[in-house]
Amino acid sequence: MKRLAAAMVAALAVTTAAIAQESVQGEQIPPPAATTQDYPADGEPAQQAAPDAIAPPAQPAQTIPPPSRPRPEINTDEGGLWGMSDRAEQEARNSGQLERDPALNAYVREVACRVASDACGDIRLYVMNRPYFNASMAPNGYMEVWSGLLLRVEDEAQLAFVLGHEIGHYRERHALAMLRAVRGRAGAAMVFSIIAAGAGVGIVGDIVYLGTIASVFGFSRENESQADMLGYDHAVAARYDPHAGHMLWSSLLQETQASDNPDVRRQETRASIFRTHPLSADRIEALTARAAQATGGETQRARYRAAIRPFLDSWLRSDLRRRDYGQTWFLLDRLAAAGEDLGVVEYYRGEINRLRRGDGDRERAFQHYTNAIAYPDAPAATWRELGDLALRDGRNAEAVEQFTAYLARAPQAVDRALIEARIQQLSGGGQ
Ligand SMILES: [Zn+2]
Repeated sequence: MKRLAAAMVAALAVTTAAIAQESVQGEQIPPPAATTQDYPADGEPAQQAAPDAIAPPAQPAQTIPPPSRPRPEINTDEGGLWGMSDRAEQEARNSGQLERDPALNAYVREVACRVASDACGDIRLYVMNRPYFNASMAPNGYMEVWSGLLLRVEDEAQLAFVLGHEIGHYRERHALAMLRAVRGRAGAAMVFSIIAAGAGVGIVGDIVYLGTIASVFGFSRENESQADMLGYDHAVAARYDPHAGHMLWSSLLQETQASDNPDVRRQETRASIFRTHPLSADRIEALTARAAQATGGETQRARYRAAIRPFLDSWLRSDLRRRDYGQTWFLLDRLAAAGEDLGVVEYYRGEINRLRRGDGDRERAFQHYTNAIAYPDAPAATWRELGDLALRDGRNAEAVEQFTAYLARAPQAVDRALIEARIQQLSGGGQ
């Protein structure tokens, strides 16, 4: 009950816009507590070191127009919603998962503003390293975009569509409608007691479980369909590819089918899960029909990939934390479809094999790591894994060679002392 209460409060606080989780991920797999410290790979160089100073992400101040919407009175229900959004935003600002890279923030913001047009000045953007497909825009203008979404979006047009969808919820005040509908069903006293129960520190802003409770407090079917159409209209008006929306939803649905978890795979056919959410298939159909006659529009695929490329390694590391290797493998296939970033992709295919530990996985891991190092973008850790495999097979000279190559590529590695000791033991102590 406490978890539910917290989740419900979180839903109210940040307006539940977990698009794909609503429709694709559903509630079957609650995400693991997503602190970046939870899953350090053995001896992995720190992937996302917490910065020393807490600062909000870069916002290009000179280009931001004034907000289009005044702050509501605090004693109204909308004012209360803003207050909760403010607290959730504070948590986001201080989160160790916040991506502060100025270039990345400027890029995502630019796309958001291109589709938001006159609501651009309302948006305060936070990019989070969290491995679920999620974006949200709270009533106070605070917007989150998660790395799991950025990895799964194939081009700028798809990003524009998703952000347009979120901005659509914001423009139409769907969060307020949701609050009022829930209060109508549950009674004001219950809603306020839930909010009071969740008002403690660290709970209000806990949106990690947002996707899980989307089915409790999701936007209505009508709201979701409307947001899709608004996202489509805004993206197309900004000269983006009209087919981006239905292509994105389709690939997310396919990823569901690639899941290791049979419950996730079955979701599509179990209508009950979608009782409070439109079926993805319906939404895909509507978007496909809308785009049928449209032509032209930009995808800006190369530009998009260039913007996320520096983060592929750390975001894929986070994606492994979900421990749904079927879905991550599907994602890797999509990332590799145009033959790009194969060093990173092959390394992570190797990682899946290494972590899965099934029959033949060790040999496959070796093969993928070996493929990876033929590409210039192979992560340094690839050589360490090859060293470990050689060591386990008793090929000590090769292990020394691979460990040495690893340290040459990652001189600042957190496990440097450990690897150096191992090299010394193998070459010196081994005679
Ligand atoms: Zn939505």
